[in-house]
Amino acid sequence: MTTLPDSKGFFGEYGGQYLPPEILPIVNELADVFAKYKDDPEFNREFSYYLKQYSGRPTPLYLCENLTARLGGAKIYLKREDLNHLGAHKVNNTIGQILLAKRMGKKKVIAETGAGQHGVATAATCALMGMDCVVYMGAEDVRRQQLNVFRMEMMGAKVVPATSGQCTLKEAVDEALGAWVADAENTFYLLGSAVGPHPYPMMVRHFQSVIGTESREQILELESRLPDYVMACVGGGSNAIGMFSGFVDDAEVKLQGVEPSGRGLAVGDHAASLSLGKPGVMHGFNSYMLQDDKGEPAPVYSISAGLDYPSVGPEHSLLKDLGRAEYVMASDKDALAAFFMLSECEGIIPALESAHALAQAIRLAPKLDKDKIILVNLSGRGDKDVAQVQEMLSKGVIDRTKLTIE
Ligand SMILES: *Cc1c(COP(=O)(O)O)cnc(C)c1O
Repeated sequence: MTTLPDSKGFFGEYGGQYLPPEILPIVNELADVFAKYKDDPEFNREFSYYLKQYSGRPTPLYLCENLTARLGGAKIYLKREDLNHLGAHKVNNTIGQILLAKRMGKKKVIAETGAGQHGVATAATCALMGMDCVVYMGAEDVRRQQLNVFRMEMMGAKVVPATSGQCTLKEAVDEALGAWVADAENTFYLLGSAVGPHPYPMMVRHFQSVIGTESREQILELESRLPDYVMACVGGGSNAIGMFSGFVDDAEVKLQGVEPSGRGLAVGDHAASLSLGKPGVMHGFNSYMLQDDKGEPAPVYSISAGLDYPSVGPEHSLLKDLGRAEYVMASDKDALAAFFMLSECEGIIPALESAHALAQAIRLAPKLDKDKIILVNLSGRGDKDVAQVQEMLSKGVIDRTKLTIE
């Protein structure tokens, strides 16, 4: 089974390039460059070199013996993407795209960021490659994520606050796209997830597929068989599609994406685009999308700033319709319970994003036999989240003894 898009970037009816005519030549040039280099041995040698020497790959596959024993069911393995440089999977993609930017002779990179994780990864790789870097970030996020703004600036990036609408990720993308069109000649737009117009979903999946490729080899080495379930959290969908790509052709492996149901199922209280949205176009592509009455992107919310985007990578929409992957939800509270449980059992503090995937594993493991295997992509580390969780505890917003996974 293949979910490669057609030449116009359609995964079934999803994806595509819904763009004003002046942007089409820019994205098509990028599609041509990507097609030229993706199988180029010298390009791939350089990509592998930085993944290894800069980010520390391959990341381990780790068996959670204590967590498994506590739950009393299926074995839980973690793919330790949290051990990448900068603490998450995002750097796999920023290294890949910046190497393309270099080959295109671009001097300047622009990017959007929500919580700041992609902005930090972009700023770091720009410092590494000696490129100018401008990061668009919603004014509200600039205020909430001051440490990440400082990190980006330390590494030489300029952070531009986006001041329209909700002043968050959607507006940051709007402004970054605008800036790109204004100076496409010199500028490379380094997109942070498997979303946006073709070729981005396919290209980001390609750079993140290292997660799935390594995981498949590692589990075969450790267990001499494939896992029964593979799970990942879904924001834009890049860590999930990178992981799924390693197993999508193995029909016996069940793929589960976990979306944030936040604080409830009403519009504005969650960001579960696949579970609760319907197909629609934003940011140049068609996919499941959370919409208001007028078909405009709905406001979104999650405890994890990295998961609150009202659409999702188009390949996930196709995998959902085909029934090849299943998409389920975990709430803020579920994620917090998993956040504490992994910290306590294994001495690993997960990112709140990744804790959504973990919550689903914790929910399912006790219902499965002990010979079953669940593989969870631990997309990032939780050091960035501990201050927020500590504040919730100290203000009495959450009670650690009462957190359970529903
Ligand atoms: C950004 C981020 C995500 C969400 O992005 P995807 O494109 O859905 O992977 C998940 N986990 C971590 C740690 C992140 O930083």
